[in-house]
Amino acid sequence: RPAGGGVRRTTRTHCPYCSLQCGIRLTAGGRPAELEPDDFPTNRGGLCSKGWTAAELLDHPDRLLTPLVRAVTGDRSSALRPATWEEALDRVVAGIRDSQERYGRDAVGCFGGGGMTNEKAYALGKFARVVLRTSAIDYNGRFCMSSAAGALNRAYGVDRGLPFPLADLAEADALMVVGGNPAATMPPAMQHLDAARARGASLVVVDPRRTATAAGATLHLAPVPGTDLALALGMLHVARRDGLVDEAYVAARTTGYASAVAAANGWWPDRVERVTGVPVADLTRAVHLLADAERAVVLSARGAEQHAGGTDTVLGFSNLALALGLPGTPGSGFGTTTGQGNGQGGREHGLKADQLPGYRMLADPAARAHVAAVWGVDPADLPAPGRSAFEMLDALGTDGGVRTLLVLASNVAVSAPDSGRVRARLAALDTLVVADFFLSETAALADVVLPTAQWAEEGGTMTNLEGRVLLRRKALDPPEGVLDDLGILRALADRLGVERGFPTEPEEVFAELRRASAGGKADYSGITYARLDAEQGVFWPCPAPAGDTSDAASHPGTPRMFLDSFPTPDGRARFVRVDFRPRAEQPDRHYPYVLTTGRTTSQYQSGTQTRRVRQLLLTDPDARAELHPDVAARHGVADGDLVRLETRRGTAVFRARLTDGVVRGTVFVPFHWAGLSGANGLTDTRLDPTSRMPEFKACAVRLERAGGP
Ligand code: SF4
Repeated sequence: RPAGGGVRRTTRTHCPYCSLQCGIRLTAGGRPAELEPDDFPTNRGGLCSKGWTAAELLDHPDRLLTPLVRAVTGDRSSALRPATWEEALDRVVAGIRDSQERYGRDAVGCFGGGGMTNEKAYALGKFARVVLRTSAIDYNGRFCMSSAAGALNRAYGVDRGLPFPLADLAEADALMVVGGNPAATMPPAMQHLDAARARGASLVVVDPRRTATAAGATLHLAPVPGTDLALALGMLHVARRDGLVDEAYVAARTTGYASAVAAANGWWPDRVERVTGVPVADLTRAVHLLADAERAVVLSARGAEQHAGGTDTVLGFSNLALALGLPGTPGSGFGTTTGQGNGQGGREHGLKADQLPGYRMLADPAARAHVAAVWGVDPADLPAPGRSAFEMLDALGTDGGVRTLLVLASNVAVSAPDSGRVRARLAALDTLVVADFFLSETAALADVVLPTAQWAEEGGTMTNLEGRVLLRRKALDPPEGVLDDLGILRALADRLGVERGFPTEPEEVFAELRRASAGGKADYSGITYARLDAEQGVFWPCPAPAGDTSDAASHPGTPRMFLDSFPTPDGRARFVRVDFRPRAEQPDRHYPYVLTTGRTTSQYQSGTQTRRVRQLLLTDPDARAELHPDVAARHGVADGDLVRLETRRGTAVFRARLTDGVVRGTVFVPFHWAGLSGANGLTDTRLDPTSRMPEFKACAVRLERAGGP
């Protein structure tokens, strides 16, 4: 496809992948699209290999260009065949009607993705609640940021991953990254940390692997996966013991200190060392590096969060940051680094089972009344909060569960925990509908596949890891035969008898989103496309003055939160008492090692996109399991051998990479691969009681050699 017709022009837009949302200049028209980095505050002219190769996705030969339907409805052994949009949409509507007539409204569900624009996230949330009137909606951000969100809401009264611009990191004198590896996952972000390092700042990295980020750190703490909270409690213990607590800050700006400290009292450093494996001297030094710095920042990421105790772990590190007086102090702070491109925005606009736009809670009568008025419906008609992502997937096809599922921008057959079980649940559906631009592993199971536009083929806004709302400008038209998600939702709403309220122009959707968010925690009402076009993004909250949502709205946005007070009822941040509980699945003689999962530099999420990009496959050709050489020797495994991993959920085969950079007794696998090397065929489904985050990052595993190179 000579992308974008005959006229070649350059558009300033953003990378389709992660939450850094690096600036890109995309030139399209007449010939295949080409890109170069743009200068945006997060990337300052840098891109990683994923961003550099993103144009390849647009013209990829695997693009879906026509809807597909099963030759025989409900018979997934029959082949997918091309269909017209009329036939495909009619099949979707028939599935929705049939399921709701037979089993009730909640028998139809929606599953969204953290890569969707704010407009699409908003429209899907509205579609579920207004057209389908179902409680069954959630998104894959539940598997990504939910523990961080739960903790930030409890501690600070609001969930914005970074409550300050990323560039502020350059001003810190000490940084601690817990369970994150930005040097590999978002390399352009490292320039901000590197700038701090160049000024003499120290960097502490907490990670069971000696990652690229850890290798360059001042100090690397390598706890056994699943023990981070014990480490956090030990650090708070040391801060108090050594007189490092900022007593004036604690007294003036926080509540709950005594209770949080009581939980940390028993965590003497030698006990922490026994539980986590982190030496007493390193633990102590880390606390002093942070406390002795004039400005310090603590960041958590998925390594700490994707656990059945993830919310408490984030709270544990938040307690430490509060004790040191960091949040809301200029140049210092506590934050979490979002993973997916619009993981932040996705949860602000109603994709979550329990939330409405503006980060309002669905169970709150005032929130229901506000959003219902914007939507022109009776608040009583809005459904109740529904099941979280895994709980919805685990009940597919059962009594009281979803019978017809619409999946947009997500590949749950690969990304959900215990993916074999999830695939069996997908197979039990009466109708599975997947909208995507490639035939993902989930789409391959569907009864109806709807081909969608890609990142550069549609406009919209994204909210990056800083809470900065930015404009992803459309650079070219989608290929013939392809619709964007807004068009699909509009077509379905029409067919289901709701003819108004689903515009297909992103700016029109955004105008309504602004009104729906007005007065909420994530208030976008003072943000307009015109502003976003002229500025390098606007940070929420950005309320329109006196509720005026005209284009004249002039609030500057809020790059730095908490400087004067926290958005809690008393204006103070909250220490929250958290207690360490060992993870449920401990190594034993049958499963003697700990399995953990994560990302690599050249692949992204479930790999639907990046496993199709030639240059990325050159650097990341297959899934590699990292083993400590001592463990490998015990099983006769050499570097490059195939190794079979088995947990209580399933088995998977990886090529072994021997490294002493992984904690002895821990096995690391990337989760970007499907089929035989699908890491989530192994992972545990226990859920965090607050966030409903699955226990992705630690379970018991055994291994054996499965063959030579
Ligand atoms: Fe894209 Fe993230 Fe890489 Fe930037 S760091 S180019 S946003 S994947």
